[in-house]
Amino acid sequence: MQPTLRAQLFIGGEYVPAASGKTFPVLNPATNEVLTELAEASVEDVDRAVKAARQAFDGGPWPKLKTAERAKLIRRFAELLVKHAPELERIESLDVGKPVKESGGHDIPRAANNFSFFADALSQWTQDAHWTESNSLGVDVNLLSVTMRQPLGVAGIIIPWNSPMMLGTWKLAPCLAAGCTAVLKPSELAPLSLMKLGEIAQEAGLPPGVLNVISGFGEVGAALTAHPGVNAVSFTGGVATGKRVMKAAADSLKRISLELGGKSPNIVFGDADLDMAVKGAVRAIFRSQGQSCVAGSRLLLQDAIYDRFLDRFLGAVANLMVGDPLDPTTDFGPLITAQHRERVEGFLQSGLAEGARLLTGGKRPADPALQKGNYLLPTVFAGVTSAMRICREEIFGPVLSVQRFQDEAEAIRLANDTTFGLAGFIWTQDVNRALRVASAVKTGMVWVNSFFLRDLRTPFGGAGESGFGREGGRYSLEFYTEPKFVCIPY
Ligand code: NDP
Repeated sequence: MQPTLRAQLFIGGEYVPAASGKTFPVLNPATNEVLTELAEASVEDVDRAVKAARQAFDGGPWPKLKTAERAKLIRRFAELLVKHAPELERIESLDVGKPVKESGGHDIPRAANNFSFFADALSQWTQDAHWTESNSLGVDVNLLSVTMRQPLGVAGIIIPWNSPMMLGTWKLAPCLAAGCTAVLKPSELAPLSLMKLGEIAQEAGLPPGVLNVISGFGEVGAALTAHPGVNAVSFTGGVATGKRVMKAAADSLKRISLELGGKSPNIVFGDADLDMAVKGAVRAIFRSQGQSCVAGSRLLLQDAIYDRFLDRFLGAVANLMVGDPLDPTTDFGPLITAQHRERVEGFLQSGLAEGARLLTGGKRPADPALQKGNYLLPTVFAGVTSAMRICREEIFGPVLSVQRFQDEAEAIRLANDTTFGLAGFIWTQDVNRALRVASAVKTGMVWVNSFFLRDLRTPFGGAGESGFGREGGRYSLEFYTEPKFVCIPY
Protein backbone atom coordinates (compact mmCIF):
# COMPACT_ATOMS: atom_id res chain seq x y z
CA MET A 1 0.00 0.00 0.00
CA GLN A 2 1.34 3.40 -1.00
CA PRO A 3 0.65 5.82 1.87
CA THR A 4 -0.61 9.34 1.18
CA LEU A 5 1.85 11.76 2.69
CA ARG A 6 0.76 15.14 3.99
CA ALA A 7 3.07 17.88 2.77
CA GLN A 8 1.52 20.99 4.33
CA LEU A 9 1.11 22.55 7.75
CA PHE A 10 -2.12 21.90 9.66
CA ILE A 11 -3.39 25.21 11.06
CA GLY A 12 -6.91 26.15 12.13
CA GLY A 13 -8.39 22.88 10.88
CA GLU A 14 -6.91 23.06 7.36
CA TYR A 15 -3.77 21.99 5.54
CA VAL A 16 -2.02 25.14 4.33
CA PRO A 17 1.33 26.02 2.73
CA ALA A 18 4.02 27.76 4.80
CA ALA A 19 3.71 31.56 4.80
CA SER A 20 7.10 31.77 3.06
CA GLY A 21 6.12 29.13 0.51
CA LYS A 22 9.33 27.29 1.43
CA THR A 23 9.61 23.50 1.60
CA PHE A 24 12.29 21.05 2.67
CA PRO A 25 12.96 17.44 1.65
CA VAL A 26 12.08 14.63 4.04
CA LEU A 27 14.39 11.65 3.47
CA ASN A 28 13.92 7.91 3.84
CA PRO A 29 16.78 6.76 6.13
CA ALA A 30 16.87 3.34 4.46
CA THR A 31 17.66 4.80 1.01
CA ASN A 32 18.21 8.54 1.45
CA GLU A 33 15.61 9.09 -1.26
CA VAL A 34 13.22 12.02 -0.89
CA LEU A 35 9.84 10.91 0.50
CA THR A 36 8.23 14.30 0.04
CA GLU A 37 8.87 18.04 0.07
CA LEU A 38 7.23 19.32 3.23
CA ALA A 39 6.16 22.89 3.99
CA GLU A 40 8.79 24.55 6.15
CA ALA A 41 7.23 26.59 8.90
CA SER A 42 8.80 29.86 9.99
CA VAL A 43 8.26 32.11 12.99
CA GLU A 44 5.29 33.61 11.12
CA ASP A 45 3.62 30.19 10.89
CA VAL A 46 4.25 29.59 14.60
CA ASP A 47 2.33 32.78 15.24
CA ARG A 48 -0.54 31.69 12.95
CA ALA A 49 -0.73 28.31 14.68
CA VAL A 50 -0.64 29.79 18.18
CA LYS A 51 -3.34 32.32 17.22
CA ALA A 52 -5.55 29.49 15.91
CA ALA A 53 -5.00 27.49 19.10
CA ARG A 54 -5.61 30.57 21.25
CA GLN A 55 -8.87 31.33 19.44
CA ALA A 56 -10.05 27.73 19.84
CA PHE A 57 -9.27 27.93 23.54
CA ASP A 58 -10.37 31.46 24.45
CA GLY A 59 -13.44 31.72 22.30
CA GLY A 60 -14.06 28.18 21.13
CA PRO A 61 -16.12 25.36 22.55
CA TRP A 62 -13.26 23.00 23.44
CA PRO A 63 -12.41 23.88 27.06
CA LYS A 64 -16.10 24.33 27.89
CA LEU A 65 -17.25 21.09 26.33
CA LYS A 66 -18.81 18.61 28.76
CA THR A 67 -16.32 15.96 29.82
CA ALA A 68 -18.34 13.19 28.20
CA GLU A 69 -18.44 15.06 24.87
CA ARG A 70 -14.70 15.65 24.93
CA ALA A 71 -14.06 12.02 25.87
CA LYS A 72 -16.22 10.93 22.91
CA LEU A 73 -14.11 12.92 20.45
CA ILE A 74 -10.89 11.61 21.97
CA ARG A 75 -12.17 8.05 21.73
CA ARG A 76 -13.04 8.75 18.09
CA PHE A 77 -9.41 9.75 17.58
CA ALA A 78 -8.32 6.38 18.98
CA GLU A 79 -10.72 4.53 16.65
CA LEU A 80 -9.42 6.42 13.65
CA LEU A 81 -5.81 5.67 14.60
CA VAL A 82 -6.75 1.99 14.57
CA LYS A 83 -8.54 2.38 11.23
CA HIS A 84 -5.55 4.12 9.64
CA ALA A 85 -2.95 1.94 11.41
CA PRO A 86 -1.66 0.11 8.30
CA GLU A 87 -0.91 3.41 6.58
CA LEU A 88 0.54 5.04 9.71
CA GLU A 89 2.82 2.07 10.41
CA ARG A 90 4.20 2.32 6.93
CA ILE A 91 4.74 6.06 7.16
CA GLU A 92 6.53 5.68 10.52
CA SER A 93 8.81 2.98 9.12
CA LEU A 94 9.57 4.94 5.94
CA ASP A 95 10.23 8.17 7.78
CA VAL A 96 12.06 6.98 10.93
CA GLY A 97 13.62 3.75 9.60
CA LYS A 98 11.86 1.85 12.38
CA PRO A 99 11.28 -1.83 11.53
CA VAL A 100 7.59 -2.34 10.76
CA LYS A 101 7.64 -5.05 13.44
CA GLU A 102 8.11 -2.22 15.91
CA SER A 103 5.95 0.51 14.35
CA GLY A 104 3.11 -1.95 13.69
CA GLY A 105 3.67 -4.17 16.71
CA HIS A 106 4.11 -1.39 19.23
CA ASP A 107 4.18 2.29 18.36
CA ILE A 108 0.99 2.79 16.35
CA PRO A 109 -1.14 0.55 18.62
CA ARG A 110 0.31 2.51 21.55
CA ALA A 111 -0.68 5.78 19.87
CA ALA A 112 -4.29 4.56 19.68
CA ASN A 113 -4.09 3.35 23.30
CA ASN A 114 -2.85 6.75 24.40
CA PHE A 115 -6.10 8.25 23.13
CA SER A 116 -8.44 5.54 24.41
CA PHE A 117 -6.67 5.57 27.79
CA PHE A 118 -7.20 9.31 28.25
CA ALA A 119 -10.80 9.11 27.02
CA ASP A 120 -11.37 6.67 29.93
CA ALA A 121 -9.09 8.49 32.36
CA LEU A 122 -11.20 11.60 32.03
CA SER A 123 -14.21 9.88 33.58
CA GLN A 124 -12.12 8.24 36.33
CA TRP A 125 -10.12 11.29 37.31
CA THR A 126 -10.83 12.41 40.87
CA GLN A 127 -10.44 15.93 42.18
CA ASP A 128 -9.92 16.87 45.84
CA ALA A 129 -12.41 18.21 48.35
CA HIS A 130 -11.59 18.70 52.05
CA TRP A 131 -14.02 19.05 54.94
CA THR A 132 -12.50 21.05 57.79
CA GLU A 133 -14.35 21.06 61.12
CA SER A 134 -14.43 24.25 63.14
CA ASN A 135 -11.66 24.48 65.78
CA SER A 136 -9.47 22.02 63.96
CA LEU A 137 -6.37 22.95 61.95
CA GLY A 138 -6.49 26.47 63.43
CA VAL A 139 -9.82 27.36 61.76
CA ASP A 140 -12.81 28.50 63.83
CA VAL A 141 -15.50 27.82 61.26
CA ASN A 142 -16.49 24.73 59.25
CA LEU A 143 -15.01 24.79 55.76
CA LEU A 144 -15.50 22.96 52.53
CA SER A 145 -12.44 23.38 50.29
CA VAL A 146 -12.70 22.21 46.71
CA THR A 147 -9.81 21.97 44.26
CA MET A 148 -11.10 22.55 40.76
CA ARG A 149 -8.79 21.64 37.89
CA GLN A 150 -9.24 23.88 34.87
CA PRO A 151 -7.63 23.56 31.44
CA LEU A 152 -4.38 25.54 31.32
CA GLY A 153 -4.67 27.00 27.82
CA VAL A 154 -2.50 26.51 24.75
CA ALA A 155 0.24 23.90 24.92
CA GLY A 156 3.34 23.72 22.73
CA ILE A 157 4.30 20.09 22.22
CA ILE A 158 7.81 19.50 20.85
CA ILE A 159 8.79 16.00 19.73
CA PRO A 160 12.09 14.34 18.70
CA TRP A 161 12.49 12.12 15.65
CA ASN A 162 12.97 8.69 17.19
CA SER A 163 9.37 7.67 18.01
CA PRO A 164 7.17 10.52 16.82
CA MET A 165 3.76 8.84 16.96
CA MET A 166 4.21 7.20 20.34
CA LEU A 167 5.76 10.27 21.98
CA GLY A 168 3.55 12.81 20.20
CA THR A 169 0.30 11.10 21.15
CA TRP A 170 1.25 10.47 24.77
CA LYS A 171 1.50 14.23 25.16
CA LEU A 172 -1.34 15.22 22.84
CA ALA A 173 -4.03 12.85 24.18
CA PRO A 174 -3.92 14.17 27.79
CA CYS A 175 -3.52 17.73 26.52
CA LEU A 176 -6.77 17.53 24.55
CA ALA A 177 -8.48 15.47 27.27
CA ALA A 178 -7.71 18.19 29.81
CA GLY A 179 -9.42 20.75 27.54
CA CYS A 180 -6.26 22.46 26.27
CA THR A 181 -5.53 23.24 22.64
CA ALA A 182 -2.22 22.34 21.04
CA VAL A 183 0.48 23.36 18.64
CA LEU A 184 2.40 20.18 17.92
CA LYS A 185 5.89 20.37 16.46
CA PRO A 186 7.50 17.16 15.21
CA SER A 187 11.20 17.04 14.41
CA GLU A 188 12.05 18.03 10.83
CA LEU A 189 13.86 14.70 10.52
CA ALA A 190 10.72 12.57 10.94
CA PRO A 191 7.57 14.66 10.75
CA LEU A 192 5.31 12.65 8.46
CA SER A 193 3.24 10.47 10.80
CA LEU A 194 2.38 13.40 13.07
CA MET A 195 1.49 15.56 10.05
CA LYS A 196 -1.25 12.97 9.33
CA LEU A 197 -2.90 13.75 12.67
CA GLY A 198 -4.49 16.78 11.03
CA GLU A 199 -6.37 14.48 8.68
CA ILE A 200 -7.50 12.38 11.63
CA ALA A 201 -8.60 15.49 13.52
CA GLN A 202 -10.71 16.50 10.51
CA GLU A 203 -12.26 13.04 10.26
CA ALA A 204 -12.92 12.93 14.02
CA GLY A 205 -14.69 16.31 13.86
CA LEU A 206 -12.32 18.10 16.21
CA PRO A 207 -13.17 21.84 16.21
CA PRO A 208 -10.74 23.89 14.06
CA GLY A 209 -7.71 25.21 15.93
CA VAL A 210 -7.84 22.63 18.74
CA LEU A 211 -4.95 20.80 17.10
CA ASN A 212 -2.33 22.47 14.92
CA VAL A 213 0.72 20.66 13.54
CA ILE A 214 3.69 22.57 12.15
CA SER A 215 6.90 21.14 10.83
CA GLY A 216 10.14 23.02 10.68
CA PHE A 217 13.62 23.35 12.10
CA GLY A 218 14.86 24.31 15.58
CA GLU A 219 13.89 28.00 15.20
CA VAL A 220 10.26 26.89 15.04
CA GLY A 221 10.57 25.09 18.37
CA ALA A 222 12.37 28.09 19.83
CA ALA A 223 9.65 30.49 18.63
CA LEU A 224 6.94 28.23 20.03
CA THR A 225 8.70 28.06 23.39
CA ALA A 226 9.07 31.84 23.61
CA HIS A 227 5.59 32.72 22.26
CA PRO A 228 3.54 34.71 24.80
CA GLY A 229 0.34 33.00 23.64
CA VAL A 230 1.57 29.58 24.80
CA ASN A 231 0.91 28.59 28.42
CA ALA A 232 2.89 25.37 28.68
CA VAL A 233 5.58 23.51 26.79
CA SER A 234 5.95 19.77 26.93
CA PHE A 235 9.31 18.92 25.42
CA THR A 236 11.01 15.63 24.62
CA GLY A 237 14.47 15.81 23.12
CA GLY A 238 18.15 16.26 23.86
CA VAL A 239 19.63 17.75 27.03
CA ALA A 240 21.17 20.81 25.36
CA THR A 241 17.88 21.69 23.64
CA GLY A 242 16.00 21.07 26.90
CA LYS A 243 18.17 23.66 28.62
CA ARG A 244 17.43 26.14 25.82
CA VAL A 245 13.71 25.47 26.21
CA MET A 246 13.91 26.12 29.94
CA LYS A 247 15.69 29.44 29.43
CA ALA A 248 13.32 30.58 26.68
CA ALA A 249 10.26 29.64 28.74
CA ALA A 250 11.49 31.65 31.73
CA ASP A 251 10.62 35.07 30.27
CA SER A 252 6.92 34.27 30.12
CA LEU A 253 7.01 31.88 33.14
CA LYS A 254 5.59 28.98 31.16
CA ARG A 255 4.99 25.66 32.75
CA ILE A 256 7.41 23.14 31.27
CA SER A 257 8.04 19.44 31.28
CA LEU A 258 11.39 18.14 30.03
CA GLU A 259 11.85 14.53 28.99
CA LEU A 260 15.50 14.38 28.02
CA GLY A 261 18.18 11.80 27.34
CA GLY A 262 19.48 8.80 29.23
CA LYS A 263 22.36 6.41 29.75
CA SER A 264 20.43 3.69 31.48
CA PRO A 265 22.08 0.85 33.40
CA ASN A 266 20.93 -2.69 32.73
CA ILE A 267 22.07 -4.77 35.72
CA VAL A 268 22.18 -8.56 35.47
CA PHE A 269 22.79 -10.44 38.73
CA GLY A 270 24.18 -13.97 38.96
CA ASP A 271 20.79 -15.46 39.88
CA ALA A 272 18.92 -13.96 36.89
CA ASP A 273 16.91 -16.06 34.44
CA LEU A 274 19.52 -15.74 31.70
CA ASP A 275 17.23 -16.50 28.75
CA MET A 276 14.89 -13.75 29.81
CA ALA A 277 17.71 -11.34 30.64
CA VAL A 278 19.49 -11.90 27.29
CA LYS A 279 16.28 -11.26 25.36
CA GLY A 280 15.54 -8.18 27.45
CA ALA A 281 19.06 -6.81 27.14
CA VAL A 282 19.06 -7.18 23.34
CA ARG A 283 15.76 -5.31 23.06
CA ALA A 284 16.84 -2.71 25.61
CA ILE A 285 19.79 -1.55 23.53
CA PHE A 286 19.02 -2.50 19.92
CA ARG A 287 15.31 -1.69 19.66
CA SER A 288 14.99 1.37 17.39
CA GLN A 289 18.70 0.86 16.58
CA GLY A 290 19.53 2.21 20.04
CA GLN A 291 17.82 5.51 19.22
CA SER A 292 15.67 5.40 22.31
CA CYS A 293 15.74 7.53 25.43
CA VAL A 294 15.30 4.48 27.68
CA ALA A 295 17.94 2.39 25.88
CA GLY A 296 19.77 0.09 28.31
CA SER A 297 23.10 1.31 26.95
CA ARG A 298 25.26 0.28 29.93
CA LEU A 299 25.16 -3.45 30.57
CA LEU A 300 26.46 -4.36 34.04
CA LEU A 301 27.14 -8.09 34.46
CA GLN A 302 27.91 -9.86 37.70
CA ASP A 303 31.19 -11.76 37.66
CA ALA A 304 29.63 -15.21 38.11
CA ILE A 305 27.65 -15.07 34.85
CA TYR A 306 29.80 -12.63 32.85
CA ASP A 307 31.15 -15.09 30.26
CA ARG A 308 28.01 -17.24 30.00
CA PHE A 309 25.80 -14.19 29.56
CA LEU A 310 28.02 -12.54 26.95
CA ASP A 311 28.21 -15.76 24.90
CA ARG A 312 24.46 -16.02 24.70
CA PHE A 313 24.02 -12.29 24.25
CA LEU A 314 26.42 -12.12 21.29
CA GLY A 315 24.67 -15.14 19.76
CA ALA A 316 21.34 -13.31 19.98
CA VAL A 317 22.84 -10.14 18.49
CA ALA A 318 24.22 -12.14 15.56
CA ASN A 319 20.68 -13.38 14.87
CA LEU A 320 19.20 -9.89 14.53
CA MET A 321 17.96 -9.38 10.99
CA VAL A 322 19.44 -6.13 9.69
CA GLY A 323 17.49 -4.89 6.70
CA ASP A 324 14.70 -2.93 5.06
CA PRO A 325 12.39 -1.49 7.75
CA LEU A 326 9.36 -2.41 5.63
CA ASP A 327 10.30 -6.11 5.58
CA PRO A 328 8.28 -7.81 8.35
CA THR A 329 11.27 -10.02 9.27
CA THR A 330 13.61 -7.06 9.89
CA ASP A 331 14.70 -6.47 13.50
CA PHE A 332 17.15 -3.67 12.93
CA GLY A 333 16.96 -0.78 10.46
CA PRO A 334 19.05 2.27 9.55
CA LEU A 335 19.95 5.26 11.71
CA ILE A 336 17.98 8.43 11.14
CA THR A 337 20.51 10.37 9.00
CA ALA A 338 23.95 10.00 7.47
CA GLN A 339 25.19 12.75 9.85
CA HIS A 340 23.86 10.91 12.87
CA ARG A 341 25.61 7.72 11.72
CA GLU A 342 28.87 9.67 11.45
CA ARG A 343 28.34 11.01 14.96
CA VAL A 344 27.82 7.48 16.29
CA GLU A 345 30.90 6.29 14.37
CA GLY A 346 32.85 9.01 16.20
CA PHE A 347 31.92 7.22 19.44
CA LEU A 348 33.20 3.93 17.99
CA GLN A 349 36.58 5.53 17.37
CA SER A 350 36.63 7.08 20.81
CA GLY A 351 35.80 3.69 22.43
CA LEU A 352 38.70 2.04 20.65
CA ALA A 353 41.07 4.93 21.37
CA GLU A 354 40.19 4.80 25.06
CA GLY A 355 40.94 1.06 25.23
CA ALA A 356 37.52 -0.61 25.07
CA ARG A 357 37.40 -4.06 23.39
CA LEU A 358 35.13 -4.38 20.36
CA LEU A 359 33.18 -7.66 20.61
CA THR A 360 30.94 -7.26 17.58
CA GLY A 361 29.81 -4.67 15.04
CA GLY A 362 31.66 -1.39 14.89
CA LYS A 363 31.16 -1.05 11.15
CA ARG A 364 28.62 -0.63 8.37
CA PRO A 365 27.03 -3.80 6.93
CA ALA A 366 28.58 -5.25 3.77
CA ASP A 367 25.21 -6.21 2.21
CA PRO A 368 25.05 -4.38 -1.17
CA ALA A 369 21.29 -3.91 -0.74
CA LEU A 370 21.88 -1.66 2.30
CA GLN A 371 24.56 0.66 0.93
CA LYS A 372 22.28 3.61 0.21
CA GLY A 373 20.88 3.71 3.75
CA ASN A 374 22.37 4.92 7.04
CA TYR A 375 23.05 1.44 8.40
CA LEU A 376 25.49 0.61 11.19
CA LEU A 377 25.79 -2.84 12.72
CA PRO A 378 24.80 -3.51 16.36
CA THR A 379 27.97 -2.86 18.33
CA VAL A 380 29.17 -4.20 21.69
CA PHE A 381 32.21 -3.00 23.64
CA ALA A 382 33.63 -4.82 26.68
CA GLY A 383 36.34 -3.70 29.08
CA VAL A 384 34.58 -0.37 29.43
CA THR A 385 35.25 1.93 32.37
CA SER A 386 32.97 4.64 33.70
CA ALA A 387 35.48 7.29 32.63
CA MET A 388 35.19 6.45 28.91
CA ARG A 389 33.08 8.71 26.70
CA ILE A 390 31.11 5.72 25.37
CA CYS A 391 30.01 5.08 28.95
CA ARG A 392 29.32 8.69 29.95
CA GLU A 393 27.62 10.26 26.93
CA GLU A 394 24.30 9.43 25.35
CA ILE A 395 25.20 7.95 21.97
CA PHE A 396 21.58 7.47 20.85
CA GLY A 397 22.70 4.68 18.56
CA PRO A 398 23.35 0.91 18.56
CA VAL A 399 26.38 0.91 20.85
CA LEU A 400 26.48 -1.05 24.10
CA SER A 401 29.09 -0.69 26.88
CA VAL A 402 29.66 -3.77 29.03
CA GLN A 403 31.06 -3.56 32.56
CA ARG A 404 31.68 -6.21 35.19
CA PHE A 405 30.77 -6.03 38.88
CA GLN A 406 31.39 -8.22 41.94
CA ASP A 407 28.54 -7.45 44.31
CA GLU A 408 25.38 -5.43 44.78
CA ALA A 409 27.17 -2.41 46.22
CA GLU A 410 29.46 -2.20 43.20
CA ALA A 411 26.51 -2.60 40.81
CA ILE A 412 24.73 0.31 42.45
CA ARG A 413 27.87 2.46 42.43
CA LEU A 414 28.43 1.84 38.71
CA ALA A 415 24.75 2.33 37.88
CA ASN A 416 24.71 5.72 39.61
CA ASP A 417 27.99 6.91 38.12
CA THR A 418 26.27 9.07 35.49
CA THR A 419 24.74 12.51 35.12
CA PHE A 420 21.55 10.98 33.68
CA GLY A 421 18.69 9.41 35.62
CA LEU A 422 16.00 8.17 33.26
CA ALA A 423 15.62 4.38 33.54
CA GLY A 424 17.24 1.33 35.11
CA PHE A 425 16.75 -2.40 34.54
CA ILE A 426 17.40 -5.14 37.10
CA TRP A 427 17.52 -8.87 36.37
CA THR A 428 17.40 -11.09 39.46
CA GLN A 429 15.13 -13.74 40.99
CA ASP A 430 15.55 -12.31 44.48
CA VAL A 431 12.68 -9.94 45.16
CA ASN A 432 14.41 -8.40 48.18
CA ARG A 433 17.44 -7.56 46.10
CA ALA A 434 15.23 -6.21 43.30
CA LEU A 435 13.54 -3.81 45.70
CA ARG A 436 16.79 -2.79 47.42
CA VAL A 437 18.51 -2.01 44.14
CA ALA A 438 15.41 -0.35 42.64
CA SER A 439 15.32 2.07 45.55
CA ALA A 440 19.08 2.74 45.42
CA VAL A 441 19.30 3.45 41.68
CA LYS A 442 18.87 7.19 41.01
CA THR A 443 16.45 7.05 38.08
CA GLY A 444 12.87 8.02 37.47
CA MET A 445 11.89 4.50 36.38
CA VAL A 446 13.06 0.96 37.13
CA TRP A 447 12.05 -2.20 35.31
CA VAL A 448 12.63 -5.52 37.09
CA ASN A 449 12.99 -8.61 34.88
CA SER A 450 11.37 -6.68 32.04
CA PHE A 451 11.91 -3.94 29.52
CA PHE A 452 9.59 -1.00 28.81
CA LEU A 453 6.33 -2.61 29.96
CA ARG A 454 4.02 0.17 30.93
CA ASP A 455 0.70 0.77 32.62
CA LEU A 456 -0.26 4.20 31.28
CA ARG A 457 -1.29 5.37 34.77
CA THR A 458 2.32 5.31 35.96
CA PRO A 459 4.72 8.29 35.94
CA PHE A 460 7.17 8.37 33.02
CA GLY A 461 10.20 10.64 33.27
CA GLY A 462 13.62 11.10 34.74
CA ALA A 463 15.90 12.84 37.19
CA GLY A 464 19.22 14.69 36.86
CA GLU A 465 20.15 15.49 33.25
CA SER A 466 17.22 13.34 32.09
CA GLY A 467 14.90 16.23 32.93
CA PHE A 468 11.94 16.74 35.19
CA GLY A 469 8.19 16.45 35.10
CA ARG A 470 6.28 13.22 34.70
CA GLU A 471 3.91 11.99 32.02
CA GLY A 472 1.20 9.36 32.32
CA GLY A 473 -2.27 9.17 33.86
CA ARG A 474 -3.03 11.85 36.40
CA TYR A 475 0.51 13.28 36.13
CA SER A 476 -0.24 14.34 32.56
CA LEU A 477 -3.73 15.60 33.35
CA GLU A 478 -2.30 17.67 36.20
CA PHE A 479 0.34 19.16 33.91
CA TYR A 480 -2.27 20.43 31.46
CA THR A 481 -4.58 21.88 34.14
CA GLU A 482 -4.46 24.69 36.67
CA PRO A 483 -5.54 23.77 40.18
CA LYS A 484 -7.90 26.33 41.68
CA PHE A 485 -8.77 26.20 45.36
CA VAL A 486 -12.28 27.36 46.24
CA CYS A 487 -13.19 27.79 49.91
CA ILE A 488 -16.77 27.74 51.25
CA PRO A 489 -17.42 28.22 54.98
CA TYR A 490 -20.57 26.50 56.21
P1 NDP B 1 16.62 17.61 19.79
O1 NDP B 1 16.74 18.11 21.17
O2 NDP B 1 17.62 17.99 18.79
O3 NDP B 1 15.20 18.04 19.18
C1 NDP B 1 13.98 17.77 19.81
C2 NDP B 1 12.92 18.72 19.27
O4 NDP B 1 13.21 20.04 19.69
C3 NDP B 1 12.85 18.76 17.75
O5 NDP B 1 11.50 18.88 17.36
C4 NDP B 1 13.65 20.00 17.44
O6 NDP B 1 13.34 20.56 16.21
C5 NDP B 1 13.23 20.91 18.56
N1 NDP B 1 14.12 22.03 18.82
C6 NDP B 1 15.38 22.25 18.35
N2 NDP B 1 15.88 23.41 18.86
C7 NDP B 1 14.93 23.92 19.66
C8 NDP B 1 14.86 25.08 20.49
N3 NDP B 1 15.86 25.96 20.58
N4 NDP B 1 13.74 25.29 21.20
C9 NDP B 1 12.72 24.40 21.16
N5 NDP B 1 12.72 23.28 20.38
C10 NDP B 1 13.81 23.05 19.65
O7 NDP B 1 16.50 16.03 19.94
P2 NDP B 1 16.44 14.96 18.79
O8 NDP B 1 15.28 15.23 17.90
O9 NDP B 1 17.80 14.83 18.20
O10 NDP B 1 16.08 13.64 19.63
C11 NDP B 1 17.03 12.90 20.32
C12 NDP B 1 17.01 13.27 21.79
O11 NDP B 1 15.72 13.11 22.35
C13 NDP B 1 17.91 12.33 22.58
O12 NDP B 1 18.75 13.03 23.46
C14 NDP B 1 16.93 11.49 23.39
O13 NDP B 1 17.43 10.97 24.56
C15 NDP B 1 15.79 12.42 23.59
N6 NDP B 1 14.58 11.66 23.86
C16 NDP B 1 14.07 11.62 25.14
C17 NDP B 1 12.96 10.86 25.43
C18 NDP B 1 12.37 10.85 26.82
O14 NDP B 1 11.21 10.53 26.96
N7 NDP B 1 13.10 11.18 27.86
C19 NDP B 1 12.31 10.04 24.42
C20 NDP B 1 12.92 10.13 23.13
C21 NDP B 1 14.01 10.93 22.87
P3 NDP B 1 14.24 20.22 14.93
O15 NDP B 1 14.40 18.74 14.89
O16 NDP B 1 13.42 20.75 13.84
O17 NDP B 1 15.54 20.92 15.13
